[in-house]
Amino acid sequence: MIIHMVEGASGDEAERVIDRIKSDYGLFCESIVGTGSIVIGVKGIAGVIDEGRISELPGVDRVIRITEKFKDASRSFHPEDTVIDLGNLKIGGKNLTIIGGPCAIETEKQALDSARLAKDSGVDVLRTFVDKSRTSPYDYRGLEIEKGLEIASAMRQETGLPIVSELIDLRHLEAFLKAGIDIIQVGARSSQYSPLLEELSLLNVPVILKHGMGNDLNEWLCAAAYLMSGLDRSGKPSHRGNPNVILCYRGIRAFESATRFSADISMIPLVRMKSHLPLIADPSHSSGDRKLVERVAYGFVAAGAGGLEFDIHSNPEEALCDGSQAVTHEAERIVSTSRQIHALLNGYGVETGVSLELMGTGGS
Ligand code: PEP
Ligand code: MN
Repeated sequence: MIIHMVEGASGDEAERVIDRIKSDYGLFCESIVGTGSIVIGVKGIAGVIDEGRISELPGVDRVIRITEKFKDASRSFHPEDTVIDLGNLKIGGKNLTIIGGPCAIETEKQALDSARLAKDSGVDVLRTFVDKSRTSPYDYRGLEIEKGLEIASAMRQETGLPIVSELIDLRHLEAFLKAGIDIIQVGARSSQYSPLLEELSLLNVPVILKHGMGNDLNEWLCAAAYLMSGLDRSGKPSHRGNPNVILCYRGIRAFESATRFSADISMIPLVRMKSHLPLIADPSHSSGDRKLVERVAYGFVAAGAGGLEFDIHSNPEEALCDGSQAVTHEAERIVSTSRQIHALLNGYGVETGVSLELMGTGGS
């Protein structure tokens, strides 16, 4: 970060800026005194500095950020892909991880039938959602948590697959961990909810962080970095942070109402370039329409997504939520074709013109 003082600013004013950065953020500065102007350079990683506060100090002209605020999630600071180990599964890097299952647990039969269908379709991880942040609070939210978690565990037992579930309420965290939820999802509607991010940053359990529907790339990656950084509320390091963060792209709210959300395919390679974290994408919640899911899934994988998460339901006509975007027997073809597309393009890297040799050759 570079701070330009206004022309004629005094040495005392520059000292005040330097002292403030040291006392509030524990960072040191170097200043260059030119003819009539002073420029201050902050040494180290200035991710935690609030540029708004610094620019309010007397004598400050402008504050220029030269490093990304989302340091821990940024590829500039961590060039290698992060690969998360989950049992035998590797998530991130050159691997393709497919997550599928019912949008929500409705009954034991529906959940187990859908779990078997997802397993037979070849998914790696099962969706077992016991609680949901919904578009409308009147929509189906799920069974009682205890009952839902009991069924989620049964789905895990029945299929032998790791399970993912969305955590909305911190009061349920202990029960989630006790029930053996392997991956905790932070939904699009919670992705900027600091208390949730703070609590999950204390754990090691993998977290899928969905892209908030009104967030830009910087806000999304800052939330991811916050999960990883282990900073306390004053911005000082207090714990290790959770290194096992998986990003999930699902489109944002835009003016187009013909699809459920607007998913920008160019975000996929861009996020891969900006961040070392595993990136998956959700063709169900982005498109909102079963008829679109298959092609959108292929598009995401071809664009460089390292995985998919989509709704698979044994009987979507009767589903209590999101039936119109859930697939049934088509899931098997979606999984196998996605794997073929991934194998074909995996060695290309995500950046135009990057050679096969540089990025290694595909296969997972
Ligand atoms: C979901 O995955 O069930 C879901 C509700 O998605 P999102 O948080 O992206 O809306
Ligand atoms: Mn859904």
